Amino acid sequence: MKCPVCGAPLKGKRCDYCGYEDRMPVEKDISLNQIYCQKEELPGQHVIMDNPVFKSPEVVPGVSRKSKTVALLLCIFGGGLGAHKFYVGKAGMGILYLFTLGLFGFGWIIDIILIATGMFKDEFDLPLL
Ligand SMILES: [Zn+2]
Repeated sequence: MKCPVCGAPLKGKRCDYCGYEDRMPVEKDISLNQIYCQKEELPGQHVIMDNPVFKSPEVVPGVSRKSKTVALLLCIFGGGLGAHKFYVGKAGMGILYLFTLGLFGFGWIIDIILIATGMFKDEFDLPLL
């Protein structure tokens, strides 16, 4: 199941990435951009139509918090040690890169291309900012 706010995979009812929680209480005064719609068949229950409440204001929905530029530099200079994998939170892959010198150079080169073309994903499977 994916988070309806940022698209990251949900763990249970909570999103580790943006803090979204299913059944999050509606707080009217947090953002003026929030649009709520009251369904007639569910009296008292508000359905969030747009911009649900964010606990982490720095989160951009659908995009990683990690920088593409930083990841690219880390990959070019430290890709053989998995530096860019550690940076985006993929520690397991980072360790693999560390011991195989970036999958014998192939993963290293491919990741440089992926990051440069914006196709590299972080631990939440979100594209880098
Ligand atoms: Zn989320």
